Amino acid sequence: MEQQKINLLNFDREQMREYLTQIGEKPYRADQLIQWIHEYGISDFNLMTNLSKAFREQLQQQAEIRLPEIALEKPSSDGTIKWLLRLADGNAVETVYIPESGRGTLCVSSQVGCALDCSFCSTGKQGFSRDLTTAEIIGQLWIAARALSAQEGRHDRKVTNIVMMGMGEPLLNLDCVLPAMNLMLDDFAYGLAKRRVTLSTSGVVPMMEKLRDSSNVALAVSLHASNDELRNELVPLNKKYPLKVLMDVCRTYFKDEPKRKIIFEYVMLKDINDQPRHARQLITLLQGIPSKVNLIPFNPFPHAPYESSTEDTIERFAKIVSKSGVITTTRKTRGDDIDAACGQLAGQVKDRTRRSERWRKKVGIPIQQVSS
Ligand code: SAH
Ligand code: SF4
Repeated sequence: MEQQKINLLNFDREQMREYLTQIGEKPYRADQLIQWIHEYGISDFNLMTNLSKAFREQLQQQAEIRLPEIALEKPSSDGTIKWLLRLADGNAVETVYIPESGRGTLCVSSQVGCALDCSFCSTGKQGFSRDLTTAEIIGQLWIAARALSAQEGRHDRKVTNIVMMGMGEPLLNLDCVLPAMNLMLDDFAYGLAKRRVTLSTSGVVPMMEKLRDSSNVALAVSLHASNDELRNELVPLNKKYPLKVLMDVCRTYFKDEPKRKIIFEYVMLKDINDQPRHARQLITLLQGIPSKVNLIPFNPFPHAPYESSTEDTIERFAKIVSKSGVITTTRKTRGDDIDAACGQLAGQVKDRTRRSERWRKKVGIPIQQVSS
């Protein structure tokens, strides 16, 4: 019977209201439940003291708050913490907390593995296993928030920002990612401002349009190349949605909010995409698009076919782009000693190659041989 219980972590407030209506309860109780579960981090119905005893008993019988298990918690010397979370089916995902002055960013995963096979990404190289549920996505924040608040004497360590930059392509799992992001923004749950929750995508154009219509979180686009030839090589999804199509959707993405900008991520690969001509091409590409550029030093992994650009090369590139008026930042590498760079998370994904191929077919990317 245990397995048939409804996991309440799968619901945002709206979905919780629907569930409560279905079981004959008052929908406004959703506010209280969401607050207990997410704001206060309570997973035991008995402790939810403003709910009637009868209602608590009903919940006990029908519902549960089932979280992933912490398989490993790895703190780094620079304050970064990586959690390896074990899911009910034995799969594992990683979540990373990165403290910086005045803020703490949690890097959240959306899938086990990824089918999009970007050539510089270790998650992509592991293939795709499955989508995460809403409970597994928001569970990462629940666990991180609780673990941080339990740290003695470190009340400064809080999650103030979220980036959907862990494992997976969030726009290929939008149905489960959206309710999780709704909870991140919900004042009864985590109450984060829309600018502090960022979804990062490799450019799934139709889903970007859907995201724009259903959520107002910040958007990061993993660009990594300034021309189609190079981007086809680095981000195979570009063959399906080339730069012209991608840039068109970016141009109008924040048209109703002129102050907001898209963050373009650009991984710096030695002698591949890091030359002054690439920087100049990038400037032309971004013309007319409200943008910021974030340069990311490549994070090496075993058998990776690339090296990171040198600091000098990155600085030269950054100078050219920022001279054009585009704000350009360079990401600091963090958690080096625990292998916890955001965007390069390596859970124990079993490469289910056939499944990856099915996904690639679904999104229309020509299937390539995955080199080891
Ligand atoms: N699938 C989404 C989000 C997860 S990847 C996306 O591609 O945007 C998050 C970020 O980490 C992306 O910008 C991705 O390109 C970057 N990334 C992946 N592998 C990396 C590596 N080895 N070094 C540096 N950045 C990497
Ligand atoms: Fe997937 Fe993003 Fe990695 Fe590309 S960079 S393989 S889209 S997780």
